[in-house]
Amino acid sequence: MDIQNDSVVSIDYTLKGDAGDVIDSSEGREPLFYLHGHGQIVPGLEEALVGKRENDEVSVSVPAEKGYGPRDPQRVFQVPRDKMPADLELEAGVMLQMQTPDGGAVPLLVTEVLPDAVTVDANHMLAGATLHFQVTVRGVREATAAELSHGHVHGPGGSHD
Ligand code: ZN
Repeated sequence: MDIQNDSVVSIDYTLKGDAGDVIDSSEGREPLFYLHGHGQIVPGLEEALVGKRENDEVSVSVPAEKGYGPRDPQRVFQVPRDKMPADLELEAGVMLQMQTPDGGAVPLLVTEVLPDAVTVDANHMLAGATLHFQVTVRGVREATAAELSHGHVHGPGGSHD
């Protein structure tokens, strides 16, 4: 069957950056299972997979606008040193978690350590990046009623039985 909204799809994939560097890959792992049309993969890849079938291969370059979005300079900001735990080891490249008012957590990358503040970047690591995907479709089936009501895939490769 063709991939369409509410299909359960499994794919093998390799994601590369502009320089040909491998950012992520399912190689050596189970394929990725997802529920098509539910925003579980980036929009540009989801669009490229519509109508594909088992064993189809898809090569697509997804611009940032249809990937993880553009980099937002507003998400780079300084935090005063005295607002951070005193025992925190701070240096450029360290990842921190910022608590949000709704109880979530946003990862922050420390980009610069100043005498009384640190500069952090809350952009997604792949914001602004063009994503080069090489995908092989491994399976397509209809979602069950339970999968649709839960909004995720069940069984092998899924959340729970
Ligand atoms: Zn469930």
